[in-house]
Amino acid sequence: MESVSTSIVVACPGCGFGNVFHQPYPYHAGYGNQGFLYNETGNRTLTWSWHDPDYVAIAGQKPPWALTEAERRELEDRLSPAPDGTRWLFRNPARCLQCGQPISLPIAETVYYLRYDGSVDRDAVRGWAPGLKDVLKKKLPAVPWSTRDVWLGVIAAAVIIGIAYGFVFLLRALSIKPNIDLWVGLFSAVFELLFLVPVWWFSVRKHRASLRTLGFVKFKFSVVAAGLGLLFACFILSGIYASLLARFGFQVRADPTPLLDRLSTPWPYFLTIMLVAPLAEETFFRGFVFAGLRSRYDWRWAAAISAALFAAAHLEITFFILAFVLGYLFAALYEKSNSIWPGMIVHFLWNTFAVIAIYAQM
Ligand SMILES: [Zn+2]
Repeated sequence: MESVSTSIVVACPGCGFGNVFHQPYPYHAGYGNQGFLYNETGNRTLTWSWHDPDYVAIAGQKPPWALTEAERRELEDRLSPAPDGTRWLFRNPARCLQCGQPISLPIAETVYYLRYDGSVDRDAVRGWAPGLKDVLKKKLPAVPWSTRDVWLGVIAAAVIIGIAYGFVFLLRALSIKPNIDLWVGLFSAVFELLFLVPVWWFSVRKHRASLRTLGFVKFKFSVVAAGLGLLFACFILSGIYASLLARFGFQVRADPTPLLDRLSTPWPYFLTIMLVAPLAEETFFRGFVFAGLRSRYDWRWAAAISAALFAAAHLEITFFILAFVLGYLFAALYEKSNSIWPGMIVHFLWNTFAVIAIYAQM
């Protein structure tokens, strides 16, 4: 008897299935000062109070439907996934349990909500459920260096590497011709390792940062697996991009084989590309620049800025787009794992394939 008076049936406009909800009517989130979100599958509801201090800390004293796009994303990013592993998103509607068609609008479009069985109730202020606290991911630890330190570090890297290039031109101008094996093998590695100087100066020396703070912490292998999938997508993209450039007579990157053919062995150069470059570049662009910027800005902006710097540092205009995409991918892997390793591993693999491609041409 009670189930009759406390249940509603919402007929699906698509398949006609009667979705049963154990609530007397669609609840009005505004009456209870509540927020609600549906998961992507549309079969679970997350509810919370907008007086919940953990919500206020993220979004301020605002009802969730009044949040800006950036504030919504901030909250979405902080929420742990729903029980089925999908995300709680502002744009998700409630869906038919039988066919998956929308049966009620997302929070941005209505304050009336349906409460699915097995929902996640976090309306702590009303006293009958725990707060949002344990639904939130742990806040990413902020790094001690500031965005100012990051920009000073970027300028320092540009100056240091500029001086190194100047040194190379000076040697050329003086017609000093060192042993070419030593030249290519040593200097390519030194150029990469110079990136570590500003990292050391502005994080370790200035703020006593540890390797852990620079992101050298353990990680979940699932992030590397996701990275490999995206790396494969980058391979396809680079193939399409290379053939597009070839139509206009350009190459993505300058062909190093004429130079390498003059060496007694290309292996010191190859090892630099495979090992030293991922280590030094990930430490600088992700461990230092990206981590510094994301402490202050939205991580997507931090990823885009660090990727643009990473792409610019390769000094090849035709490689810029591809390097930007890769840089963004490495930063996203850092963001998802909170560790520098997944990006470094994927970077290592990309460069190793590049070496194999060069070797095959020789
Ligand atoms: Zn349906």
